[in-house]
Amino acid sequence: MTKELEQLDKEYVLPTYGRNYVNFVKGDNATLFDENGKDYIDFTSGIGVVSAGHGNKRVGKKIAEQVGNITHISNLFLIEPQAKLAEKIVKLSGYDMRCFFANSGAEANEGAIKIARKYGELNGEQKKYKIITLVNSFHGRTISSLKATGQPDMHQTYFGPYPDGFIYAKDLDEVLSLVDDKTAGVMIELIQGEGGVTALDKDKVQKLAEELKKRDVLLIIDEVQTGGYRTGEFLASNAYEIDPDIITLAKGIGGGVPIGVVMTKHKDVLSPGDHGSTFGGNYLSTAASLEVLEILEEEYKKDTFSKNIEIFDTYLKGFAEKFDNLFDGTSGNGLIRGLGGKSAETQQKVITEAFNEGVLVLKAGKNRVRFLPPLTITEEEIKEGMKRFEKALTTI
Ligand SMILES: *Cc1c(COP(=O)(O)O)cnc(C)c1O
Repeated sequence: MTKELEQLDKEYVLPTYGRNYVNFVKGDNATLFDENGKDYIDFTSGIGVVSAGHGNKRVGKKIAEQVGNITHISNLFLIEPQAKLAEKIVKLSGYDMRCFFANSGAEANEGAIKIARKYGELNGEQKKYKIITLVNSFHGRTISSLKATGQPDMHQTYFGPYPDGFIYAKDLDEVLSLVDDKTAGVMIELIQGEGGVTALDKDKVQKLAEELKKRDVLLIIDEVQTGGYRTGEFLASNAYEIDPDIITLAKGIGGGVPIGVVMTKHKDVLSPGDHGSTFGGNYLSTAASLEVLEILEEEYKKDTFSKNIEIFDTYLKGFAEKFDNLFDGTSGNGLIRGLGGKSAETQQKVITEAFNEGVLVLKAGKNRVRFLPPLTITEEEIKEGMKRFEKALTTI
């Protein structure tokens, strides 16, 4: 079967991904099964998406009920689960904000850029439009979010021209020196995900937040990868104890149903007609997300995440020590973690050998191996996955 499907994929799907041709047919929490019945421990959760696990029965039931009734009406009408999800997200965040619903992380970031630029138009002596981001950041694949992504080698000229006004700071220390009277916002990930699982320094982030407030430059936190309890708290911003102007969410809050959120405390900047989305916030995605967040909130209260974080941490630190021929240390925090491979070659070998042993891990940046397990992963699944991972490491 896989061979035939591989052929279909190669014939009809555009080749934008370097695909691994395995055919997964069943999922159960952090365990996936391929068509031959081989099982894999999933330390990727579909790149930080299925936080409540594969095949989650509660999420499945909720989605089935919702789809069997109303899937989509449009944003021209009140959408009950959307209003309830907005309340849920705002209350869990602890910030005094309102939400707009989109369908992906990139789209949420587009919304954030629009809010910051309109705020800059309304609140500057002259139009403020520049957005500062960090080198090695990742903010999406649309033309503007790609330009916001601080990886110049991704700004292929054949996609140009790009929108103006994106400036890259090489690190947090450089941000303030780049702020001028045309700067509308600074957009950062508190833990860079795709760029290499690098956590920013809390003190520095707090100082930057304070300084930006004084200069009336908006602080945008891209929590597309870190939001939804990935770090152990609902938002990484909570753990960093900052008070951002705008936060974006996506990946982990919809259980695999596409959803993006931009939330802001500047509640009146956008007016009717300024922004919109046909699918964004529909019954399907918001009912699914509401159920996912309820499950995650319950698990958070039961300390499931903090326990998992501790077990993960012990294993990863152990591997960094034992296999210091391959790795130069661990990075990240919560359940967004990295093992620093000594080269891009090591990174690729580790991912391939791990797959062969039946455990899925991701790459991040040029040489790190990234772990984004379902937050609901069980202790047995972690132990089994780590046993396989260690076996893979010994073969390299
Ligand atoms: C994945 C990611 C995005 C892009 O999200 P999409 O849903 O793929 O558009 C943006 N920012 C961060 C931090 C991400 O990890």
